[in-house]
Amino acid sequence: MSSSFLYKLGVDYLHELSHPQVMTVKLYEADPYLKEFTAIVTKVEGDWVVLDRTAFYPGGGGQERDRGTLNGGEVTGVKGKEEISHQVPGHALKVGSPVKGVLDWDNRCCLMRAHTGEHLLFSSLSRRTEMELVKISLSKEKKVLIVKGHLDWDMVRDAMQEVNDIIAEGAEVTCHQVDRENLGEGGPRVKLDRISDRMVRVVSIGGHDSAACAGVHLKNAREIGMLLVSKFTSAKPAGDWEIEFLVGAEAVRMAVDHSVRSLMLAERLGSLPQDSLTAFDNRDRELVRAREALKAYGRLALSSLNPEQLGDRKFFSGSFTGLDRKMVMERANELVSRGSSVAALVCQDDKTFLVLACSTDVKLDCVALLNKVLSQHGGRGGGKPNFASGGILGLLDASVLLDEISRLLKMS
Ligand SMILES: [Zn+2]
Repeated sequence: MSSSFLYKLGVDYLHELSHPQVMTVKLYEADPYLKEFTAIVTKVEGDWVVLDRTAFYPGGGGQERDRGTLNGGEVTGVKGKEEISHQVPGHALKVGSPVKGVLDWDNRCCLMRAHTGEHLLFSSLSRRTEMELVKISLSKEKKVLIVKGHLDWDMVRDAMQEVNDIIAEGAEVTCHQVDRENLGEGGPRVKLDRISDRMVRVVSIGGHDSAACAGVHLKNAREIGMLLVSKFTSAKPAGDWEIEFLVGAEAVRMAVDHSVRSLMLAERLGSLPQDSLTAFDNRDRELVRAREALKAYGRLALSSLNPEQLGDRKFFSGSFTGLDRKMVMERANELVSRGSSVAALVCQDDKTFLVLACSTDVKLDCVALLNKVLSQHGGRGGGKPNFASGGILGLLDASVLLDEISRLLKMS
């Protein structure tokens, strides 16, 4: 054993002697509906104040700590397991002072709904697939579960239906202490390696779920109001899936909004809401086919350009709608590869795109010529002396550009 380790043991022991741990009575365990309480200060360490009893839950099991005030001062932190300490910056409290604690009840209520809902959601999902919990994070602003396992939208929908059935049924939430020796296969969900006490607090929701948990819960699942999964996305590499959910009035508002959007989408797709996914997939396939057809016709059109003879140079020109720009640029290069040629190709979608290319034996500055033509219409471009491209915002009659290039080529 090293001397520094022994020294640390000694320091810890002396610290324990001068700062004995005082157990704080956890009022939130006996009555999670307690909004206000009185207590006596038992220890003060800077901004941190220990009380003989408290309704402030220090957080745990993924649930955020409680918010509120002590004698009017904002509680900005709560910590501890047996001895619960409250951070109240700038307080004037002393050991023995009486205090009044007031919880931010909106926040706590939301957390109890979320926490109780999370028990139900996790167990409903677990009934459908092999699943492992990676992380829970519950605050008033955001409620997230990260899990590992195979999950899909059908399972998420079925689990959500089941959870809301249990909420509507009004399943009762009960807590009881169980000896860890009696927790076995088929019993409550529990991670015994994370629990050191002999007695384990088990929270049950009707006959639907049973799990070891030290958190604060509602008395009845009905008080959750509604649970709605609002996000279901990949969580790699932390886990496989991130599931965000809402509870209560927020869940109802979002459900109504999503429902109306889904009806609007079905209307636009010309289908029934229950068929909208198939209708969308059909449209998607049609779009792919149309793009392929356009590409094939585009290639055909690009390959059938006939040049105009301008002095000793061949001038290829043409305009196309909706073609891939890369394909048009490649064709312009091909057209001038045989020598003594100039190619000017216009491609339009919601913009007008112009490519100008010339053979290496043609004395022409494509960048200068292209910009001379485009700048008259508020556009510009760039490139190399024998290959330039650029565009104009909006649509313009392509023949205006091509005629102008032809005119300038004749003059050069
Ligand atoms: Zn819990």
